[in-house]
Amino acid sequence: MSTVAAGPAAGGPARADEVTREAARRRTTAVISHPDAGKSTLTEALALHANAVRTAGHVHGKAGRAGVVSDWQGMEKDRGISISSAVLPLHHRGHVVNVVDTPGHADFSEDTYRALTAVDAVIMLIDAARGMEAQTRKLFGVCRHRGLPVITVVNKWDRPGREALELLDEVEEVTGMRPTPVTWPVGIAGDFRGLLERRTGEYVRYTRAPGGATLAEEERHPAAAAAEVEPDAWPQALEEDELLRATGADHDQDAFLAGRSTPVFFTAAVANTGVRQVLDALVDLAPAPHEHPLRDGRALPVTAGFTAQVFKTQTGMNPAHRDRLAFARIRSGRFERGMSVHDERTGRPLVLKHVQTVFGADRSTVDEAWPGDVIGLVNAKHVHVGDTLHEGSPVAFPPLPVFAPERFRVVRPQDLGRGKQFRQGLAELDAEGVVHVLTSALRGDGEPVLAAVGDLQFDVVQHRMTHDFHAPVLFEDLPYTVVRVVDAAAEPLVQGFRGAELAQLRDGTRWALFTDRWVLSSFVRTHPDAELVELVATG
Ligand code: GDP
Repeated sequence: MSTVAAGPAAGGPARADEVTREAARRRTTAVISHPDAGKSTLTEALALHANAVRTAGHVHGKAGRAGVVSDWQGMEKDRGISISSAVLPLHHRGHVVNVVDTPGHADFSEDTYRALTAVDAVIMLIDAARGMEAQTRKLFGVCRHRGLPVITVVNKWDRPGREALELLDEVEEVTGMRPTPVTWPVGIAGDFRGLLERRTGEYVRYTRAPGGATLAEEERHPAAAAAEVEPDAWPQALEEDELLRATGADHDQDAFLAGRSTPVFFTAAVANTGVRQVLDALVDLAPAPHEHPLRDGRALPVTAGFTAQVFKTQTGMNPAHRDRLAFARIRSGRFERGMSVHDERTGRPLVLKHVQTVFGADRSTVDEAWPGDVIGLVNAKHVHVGDTLHEGSPVAFPPLPVFAPERFRVVRPQDLGRGKQFRQGLAELDAEGVVHVLTSALRGDGEPVLAAVGDLQFDVVQHRMTHDFHAPVLFEDLPYTVVRVVDAAAEPLVQGFRGAELAQLRDGTRWALFTDRWVLSSFVRTHPDAELVELVATG
């Protein structure tokens, strides 16, 4: 792979060594988990350890915990779920750890998967009693597709759960990665005394702060003294540690970066125990922003001029302003407030004057940012999800992956007199990546088909169409669950096939929709020459 010449940034005074230094200080990550495994709690605990908040409960403010709620959308408030992606920049040991929020809910939406395109490593959080649950597996599937290194955190060790070794087996079986514990629990699940830090052999004993609102007290004991402090639980932990060592389950940085192994940590996030080691691992083990492939196959070094890729847009985050934020991950160069860039897709110039970072519900203006940072562009109207922003000569990142939708609905305006608002609203939601809007030859322009990975996306469509575009809609479920991309030659074959329908995306891409895998297999048997391409599978 050839590399784009770094050179001095075209528009900015940033020197290559300055960019290299700032990029090296950054870690950009996201937490993936099944709902209720403790993602919000762990995020808060990380923020607490990085001194970003004084007490846990600040960032997400779930029911019962005092906090600053990320209640940007009325709907989010109504349903008590987090739809918006916040980015938490945490400062730890001279590094900036950007935690990109992956909105979690039983109905995952594409946004959740897309957030994973903006990070360099992920934390896979699992509940000690439940192991690798369905959504964790799906999200892991996307991480594997992206080649992201994975740090595994086994949470809720303060509650009765499974055996640690058994959980490791399950992680290995499901992910194919070798688990290499960095910390090991002293005391079984439900009787969490502390941690054996495997690298030093030290015992860290915890005393939980009342309510878990502040840091747990830590006492460190050298290996030789640990058995005295913890006569029952320590010998078992040591025995298991030896077993791990004998089977070669020790951290290997190259294997981790290549996705062949995953360092494992044990926590009780609610009590803030074991969390510091996770934050340290982000600094010590997770990769810094590195060169990124371009659409033309070359690699773009972090020291090139400013580039960023938009991975999410969010409207109405602040009900007082009804504004729109486009979130972009910086891939190279220095961002400076007021700089001029171009959107590669449209060729339009943009002056980046109003750029913000979002911390929970708090926003602040960004003057300067570096590779690995996520910036929110305010009211950048013509910017779409997936767009490359660049200074100097045009470069383009590959398009964001399209995750295979599994839910399909026909959409119609409730009020036929609002056809114009209906069309405009859908076009905007399509561009924002809220949902895919398809045109089916069977139904015509007036009855678009919406495709989503989770039902939540349809709820967002209804909410936005009603409140932002004043064109409430009616849905009709369609029975399809499987999609393949097809070419023009396959079009008539799909159209004539029972249990299948052909629909086109805005850019002309043809999708064949099938009711289920059996219909798909029967189509393949009937038309063995038809070319069918799979989208990125989740799970
Ligand atoms: P999310 O849906 O993954 O964001 O999960 P939350 O962070 O909201 O946590 C779900 C529930 O599990 C809440 O009631 C938390 O208080 C609880 N929880 C989270 N972490 C722990 C933990 O380490 N131990 C225990 N006992 N409960 C936890």
